[in-house]
Order: sequence, then C-alpha cells, then structure tokens
Amino acid sequence: ADRSAAIEVDHLVKVYKQTRAVDDISFSLPRGSITGLLGGNGAGKTTTIAMIMGLVLPTSGRVQVLGHRMPEESAAVLGRMNFESPYVDMPMRLTVRQNLTIFGKLYAVKNLSDRIAELAEDLDLTEFVDRANGKLSAGQKTRVALAKALINQPELLLLDEPTASLDPDTADWVRGHMERYRKANNATILLASHNMLEVERLCDRVIIMKRGRVEDDDTPEAIMARYNRTTLEEVFL
Ligand code: ATP
Repeated sequence: ADRSAAIEVDHLVKVYKQTRAVDDISFSLPRGSITGLLGGNGAGKTTTIAMIMGLVLPTSGRVQVLGHRMPEESAAVLGRMNFESPYVDMPMRLTVRQNLTIFGKLYAVKNLSDRIAELAEDLDLTEFVDRANGKLSAGQKTRVALAKALINQPELLLLDEPTASLDPDTADWVRGHMERYRKANNATILLASHNMLEVERLCDRVIIMKRGRVEDDDTPEAIMARYNRTTLEEVFL
C-alpha cells in the first residue's frame, strides 16, 4: 500500500440488493492532486465518495485515506477531511454563524469564532453571517456550504457537484476558490461532477465511471487525445 497517497481504493465493490453500484474499482490519488470523478446518473460516484468518507461499508475491497483504513481507522482521519454534498442541509432558521458554529464544534475547531470570521471574509459572507440560512440566495447558500466544508481546514476535500444549480459567474467563483484553497494548503480534492468544462479547467486527473466501473483514468489531455477530441465534453457526445 502507498502510505503517501491521500486516497487509495483497491478492488472496491458495493452491492445493493439489485445493483452493483460500485463494481471493482481501484485508484490511488497523490496528496495535493485534484481529480475529477465523472459519470452519468447512477454511475456510482456518490457511493464511491460515501465509502471513502467511511459512511458506507464496502461489500468488499479496501479504502485507505491519508494512510488509514476506512472505516476502521476513521477516528485518525475524520478531522483531517471534510466534504460538500447536496445531501447536507442546514437548518434554515439558524444564521450562517450558528450553522458554521455547529460544524466547527463537530470538528473541534480551535478559535472557532476567528475561523468563522476568516472563512466569512474569504468566501465573501461577512455581510450575511448573521442572516438566517433560509434567507440566502442559492449562490450564498453554496458559499456557506463551502465554508462548512472548509471549517476544519481539511487536507482532503470531497466535493459532490459543488457548482450544480449555480449561475455561471458564481460557479466560476467557486472553482477559483477551490483552486486557491488547494494551492494554499496543498490539499487533495476529489470532485464529482457532470460538468466537463469544469473538470477540464480544474483537474489534473480524470476518472470516468460507468455502471460502477472505472472506464478511463488519465489526464484530461490524454483522454481528449485518445478520443481525438479537443474538449472533454466532446468525448462524451
Ligand atoms: P448521480 O450522478 O445521479 O448522483 P452517482 O454516479 O452518484 O449518480 P450513485 O448514487 O452512487 O451514482 O448510485 C449508483 C447506483 O447504486 C444507482 O443505480 C443507485 O440507484 C444505486 N444505489 C445507490 N444508493 C443505494 C441504496 N442506498 N440502496 C439501493 N441502491 C442504491
């Protein structure tokens, strides 16, 4: 096993009653890398991320995160990783600050009020920090979700379609922020996305899943060259 890898997935399988949601996938992501996880609906992206988080048990195979086996050794790494997912809803009546305080306490963040102020500044939320979450626009809510994902300054960030449902400008801004965060912290990012342009722009590596399997795993450039296309989007047409 490569203990220097941020994520190592080895012959991972998840079978639900009728479905092989994840069907024998293997990959290893170096620290500091940003990888796009592409695939259509039902390809197995979300299940893969949930197993990496230690939230879903594999039927067979192995997941290691920052050198620790998941979920058995998750106590050693959960504080060093975080995720953003459309499934994390925040109470609408609580303010941004109250919501971020809950997650900060969950991760035992030190100097939490300073950290919240810093994130509010970075994510342009200072004006809204005492507003109820339910009163925010979609773009503002996404920035709060990102602040939640960054509250513990994670070394490893798992993002499940972070820019879906955002207008182009806000989506661009979110991408820029992920890139800056990664560079400043040498963080590792795994980004599930349907957006080829986004993956092409951000990622140094692309894993394409189809029906639970890894269909391709390479740089965006190599994948485009292999299919003789100039954009990733065309590869999928
Ligand atoms: P999407 O882009 O739509 O989120 P995905 O690539 O994330 O898709 P998954 O959500 O991982 O795909 O789903 C993979 C397959 O596993 C699908 O066929 C799905 O119906 C099935 N599946 C996922 N979770 C469960 C579950 N808890 N019970 C039964 N089947 C499940």
